[in-house]
Amino acid sequence: MGTNPDKRLGINSASSYNWRQLGYRYYSLSFYLNRIFGGKTWKVSVDGGFHCPNADGTISHAGCLFCNILSFSPSRRRSGLTIREQLLQAATHLRERRGIQKIIAYFQPGTNTYGPPDKLERLYREALSVPDVVGLAIGTRPDCLSEEVVKLLATLSQETWLTVEIGVQSSHNATLRRINRGHSWEDAVNAIQRCANEGIRVTVHLMFGLPGETYQQMLETAEKVAELPIHGVKIHNLYVAKDTGLAKLYEAGQYEPLSQDVYVNMVCDALERLPPHIVIERLTAETDPGYLIAPDWCRRKGETISLIGKQLELRNTYQGCRFSEGPTQPDGLSSSPNKCGST
Ligand code: SF4
Repeated sequence: MGTNPDKRLGINSASSYNWRQLGYRYYSLSFYLNRIFGGKTWKVSVDGGFHCPNADGTISHAGCLFCNILSFSPSRRRSGLTIREQLLQAATHLRERRGIQKIIAYFQPGTNTYGPPDKLERLYREALSVPDVVGLAIGTRPDCLSEEVVKLLATLSQETWLTVEIGVQSSHNATLRRINRGHSWEDAVNAIQRCANEGIRVTVHLMFGLPGETYQQMLETAEKVAELPIHGVKIHNLYVAKDTGLAKLYEAGQYEPLSQDVYVNMVCDALERLPPHIVIERLTAETDPGYLIAPDWCRRKGETISLIGKQLELRNTYQGCRFSEGPTQPDGLSSSPNKCGST
């Protein structure tokens, strides 16, 4: 296996950061970034103009059930600006308004490794050439990480902080088929392992509330992800956006999003099962309010994060406290008294 990318940056282990001893309930991204970069560091989304094989007809034309594929049309892309211009604009704004000096360029819309390696390298290096940029986050699908792309990401990982964000969503192939992901759980595991073998930092995206999934299945996904060689996790609630297949199901009464209460409990159960060294990069979905149909609580990101913190306090539990306990029992929801609540 390749060198641990965090280790290369001088981070030896999660325990060296003592997030637990400092009174936190989970290992948050802001805590992690502030420690490794020594100050406020912000992730800035940049639009590299990437499309997606699951929406351009290579895999399918329909896209994932929840994805608004109209967002790929040129008229709805974020800007006509170059990567450099987008980052310079954001850097000025963040410096003036929030006093932030360091930026991670987050290649977010579309599938950001979907293109020839020389084009990818040019765009990634353009981002790195912006003075305030200290690293890269690259969002992609498990099936868009060819050998050449992994090699490129491995080279860049030697030069800068880099994380590849892989959309996994669920460990259940029936769910992945239902939402038209166009890849399997096994594809995701394979991609994660190939990146980890090359010393690339990996962040996994998960979604709770996918159609047809039970609470138990969501927990199983968290438990399986906990065993993978990853460094970060982003947890999202599934929401219904305009112009999506999911919107049609919702309007036909065939899909109901999770309530905020169930989602908060779900996230706490997942956090308890994720090992303490995994950085929690997101706890709830971020939405464009103009495109949101449901649930309404999705507009209140701060409230949901605060409720998750309060729920962990109420349980007196924390990230990783159930990590070594093995698979959940069929009825093993965390409403029952738990061992980690007493420590
Ligand atoms: S893989 Fe991502 S970009 Fe592509 S259709 Fe699915 S959600 Fe949209």
